Amino acid sequence: MKIVEILIEYANYSLDRPFSYFYKGNKNIGIGYRVLVNFNNRESVGYVTNCYESDKPIEKLEDELGFKIGEIIDVLDDSPLLSDDLLHLADQVADYYVSPKISVLQSMLPPSLSPRRSSLKAPKIAYDQYVRVVDNNEEGLTDKQIELLRLLSSADKVLKKDIKSKSILAKLLEYNRVEIIKEEKRRLALPNYEMMTPPKLTKEQQDVIDEFSSSDDTVYLLEGVTGSGKTEVYLSISEQVLKEGKSVLMLVPEISLTPMMMEYFLRRFKGDVAILHSELTPSEKYDEYRKIAKGDCHVVIGARSAIFAPLKNIGLIILDEEHVESYKQDTPPFYHAREVAIMRAKTHKGKVILGSATPSLESRARAQKNVYHLLLLNNRINNKELPKTTIINLSDYNNIDRDSYIFSHRLRDELQGVLDRKEQAILLINRRGFSTSISCRKCGHIFKCPTCEIPLTYHKSDNMMKCHHCDYVEKMPEECPECGSKHIMKTGFGTERIEEEVHRLFPEARTLRLDSDSAKIRAKIPAIVKEFGEKKADILVGTQMIAKGHDFPDVTLVGVVLADIGLSMPSFRSNERAFQLITQAVGRSGRKDKNGIAIIQTYNPTNYAITMAARQNYELFYRKEMEYRRMQGYPPYQFLASVTLAGKNEEKVIKGMVNLVDVLNHELGDNAVVLGPTIPFIPYEGNNYLRTALIKFKDYKLVRPILKKIIPIYNSNSLHLSINIDPYNF
Ligand code: ADP
Ligand code: ZN
Ligand code: ZN
Repeated sequence: MKIVEILIEYANYSLDRPFSYFYKGNKNIGIGYRVLVNFNNRESVGYVTNCYESDKPIEKLEDELGFKIGEIIDVLDDSPLLSDDLLHLADQVADYYVSPKISVLQSMLPPSLSPRRSSLKAPKIAYDQYVRVVDNNEEGLTDKQIELLRLLSSADKVLKKDIKSKSILAKLLEYNRVEIIKEEKRRLALPNYEMMTPPKLTKEQQDVIDEFSSSDDTVYLLEGVTGSGKTEVYLSISEQVLKEGKSVLMLVPEISLTPMMMEYFLRRFKGDVAILHSELTPSEKYDEYRKIAKGDCHVVIGARSAIFAPLKNIGLIILDEEHVESYKQDTPPFYHAREVAIMRAKTHKGKVILGSATPSLESRARAQKNVYHLLLLNNRINNKELPKTTIINLSDYNNIDRDSYIFSHRLRDELQGVLDRKEQAILLINRRGFSTSISCRKCGHIFKCPTCEIPLTYHKSDNMMKCHHCDYVEKMPEECPECGSKHIMKTGFGTERIEEEVHRLFPEARTLRLDSDSAKIRAKIPAIVKEFGEKKADILVGTQMIAKGHDFPDVTLVGVVLADIGLSMPSFRSNERAFQLITQAVGRSGRKDKNGIAIIQTYNPTNYAITMAARQNYELFYRKEMEYRRMQGYPPYQFLASVTLAGKNEEKVIKGMVNLVDVLNHELGDNAVVLGPTIPFIPYEGNNYLRTALIKFKDYKLVRPILKKIIPIYNSNSLHLSINIDPYNF
């Protein structure tokens, strides 16, 4: 009889240990298999972490172990899910991020393979059935049968379903002249692009590549202004790495936003490419995953979780737009793809390239200290000028177009110019929806989300009020629920409103809108990006989605409608985020033959994040922002971890948190500063009250053991603890 130790599927600290079961069946079982078990009277999926033979009777074993052993109901896999290097990575991630191991495994694997119950219903492997000739002997066959046999012998590979004469085929099968072979099907249909000859590299690109190739360092920060040709650098280096017989992992923030990146890689490496990202269906993901695991392709392009792709012998991992926050997962284990990439590269003795025009302060600071190797691309391709940028002060009434109140005279004039010249413009407003605040004019009631307590946004297209945090929606009411007044006021503006304003002022303009409302329909985002690229619209209105890496040759104007959004967010990152967003947006202008301009509208025309972004001057911004971070003790000078307690009983949560802060202060002593307890920005989550505390420290090695120590104390039935290392939302 086999004794099997498993991790159970619930990502709770209190269950983060092996549970023993016995297995009497005859299927293969071992470390890395999933099993079905009964856990607390619930059918649950487990992940095998250990397995050994025992000839003792169950009762004796139970006596020795001191608990009852259940039986494994079924084994769900016929081979282990993860290779040794990925198992090692799972341990590293769980350890660094102080998270339950099962949550790491669940993040690593596609839905069909994930150790959780939902995977039981997830798609299975699909097969294509081919007919293959095994014996050409025509003796004893009818002429019709011989005809088909000859046809099949001369053809390469014939799908069973394509053969019309099923009865003749049945006879050939019966006489053992042909057989059916099953081959796994790839359900993701990749576009069939022409191969492309690469352009001649510029000297600057070549220098960067040479410097990379001749160095033994592991991590490189490729800092290149917008339009400096980073993609071509990625492609050339990838080609070298593939030639050495190693594989390449290319991460992008959100693949649907960067269809061009995928296209470049497909054109260059064609059949050798697999794609992994959240817009794939579970079956497509499953097929791509297995294709990679089998070693059928050596280049993987994907978003955050593709960092766990089962590639072997990785020579290079690239994170394009490394500063983008979607690389940080905002659910347990709260990992950041950059840190995981570095762990993985070290195991594989490969290299990591972090690319950006506006690197995160953390990465740039590490490059400054030679922890990362800095590679610079200072010029745009063909020395194309950066866009000329004008900041418009919205507090100055003379600048504002009285007929619009949203657009300044200047922005309105420039838009007209673009339309007259039949060029294209991008308008950035980093808020979706129509109006961003809804309230009663009579009693002042503010319409808020019942679960998150944050104000709802009005969406005109479907006449709904929506919560942008939790997806709560409600029909727009006719009257105030408090006082019954029909005077409901909608103020503030988002993408929908800007699009409407464009239509009002420029009735002839064709517009497209790109925000996460578009993401509700699969494949809609790349379709919009493609349409705009094909000049099927004149003006693209969008949120930060429009700022990410697009290369539209005819865009000569970028208008930042309100640069201040985000600056007032209570976060030490707000300036960095604003700088990155505006710089990236401005960088979409004038990338090809025509010169471009940018107009930035703001109430804070002297804010350095805005003025430096207008000048596309990362270096100055970096120095100034580092000074603030140093003074205030924020990353990259000090590091952060947040601890959060959640529970249904608010009083228990508050008391628990007060106590937790005491314990942390006591245990951490001079090694850290504990701030809190505080009410988080979003104070509720799924009927739970939340309280949080922030830990600031210089040396994580001294803090991690303390975090591990508090876990068993603060994870009970009524309180749920979560720990986020390097959190983003503070
Ligand atoms: P970045 O990602 O640095 O903003 P891209 O990689 O999008 O810039 O490159 C900007 C433009 O320059 C693209 O249209 C690209 O095709 C073109 N390009 C890149 N390298 C070269 C080269 N060596 N010769 C000609 N054009 C190039
Ligand atoms: Zn009211
Ligand atoms: Zn909500």
